[in-house]
Amino acid sequence: MNRFIDLLRESKHCVFLSGAGISTLSGIPDFRGSNGIYKKFDADKIFDIDYFYSDPDYFYSHSKDFIYNVHEKDPNIIHHVLTRLAKTGMVKTVITQNIDLLHQKAGLENVIELHGSPENNTCLSCGKTFSYEHIADIVRDDLIPRCDECNGLIKPNITFFGEMLDHEAITRAIDESSRADLFVVIGSSLVVHPAASLPLYSVKNNGKLVIVNNKKTPLDEYATLRYEDLGLFFEILDSYFRDE
Ligand SMILES: [Zn+2]
Repeated sequence: MNRFIDLLRESKHCVFLSGAGISTLSGIPDFRGSNGIYKKFDADKIFDIDYFYSDPDYFYSHSKDFIYNVHEKDPNIIHHVLTRLAKTGMVKTVITQNIDLLHQKAGLENVIELHGSPENNTCLSCGKTFSYEHIADIVRDDLIPRCDECNGLIKPNITFFGEMLDHEAITRAIDESSRADLFVVIGSSLVVHPAASLPLYSVKNNGKLVIVNNKKTPLDEYATLRYEDLGLFFEILDSYFRDE
């Protein structure tokens, strides 16, 4: 761990990329882990945009237990330590693949949300927007949210498979990754693009890559340092930087 602490202290532009693995400590299932949601639901359907249009009930009836319940979840040590490091300036940017709003709940500002967020929800017919709280109430009553103006179908501002990523988010993410002299991946298996290719923008510019994940990733060979245990990693970081 000393080697990582040295890298962090020496870095001028440290960027973190977080994936679903960091939220399992908060009781939110990841996607591809042994208890991941893709074991329970059909991965080809749940976030597929065409399937959503044809049968929105499939998404909403399942998402009430892993998206529209995130208000009941609390950030964990990982979210809190990251927020503290960002406030000291030691971490410049956090890019996340997560849609659970826990970084924000931990007080982190300017998170780049690669896959969007359920904070806002939009009527697909007239464009009216609705808050997370409004939609969560409806979904948790086992109803499909419909627009109160035009009865159109409402979709969370989450990027589904088959949709374009938010242009501003991906542009900022690539820019930050390119500038990173230290790029740290936490809790992501780096299989979903373009998140999976972001570390390479740093590596290409001679940035150092550190991966903390309990499973192998396709980019392990590029990593200067590699750790398995996320919880332990952040407990140690916490003890180092408690007073900064
Ligand atoms: Zn509408």
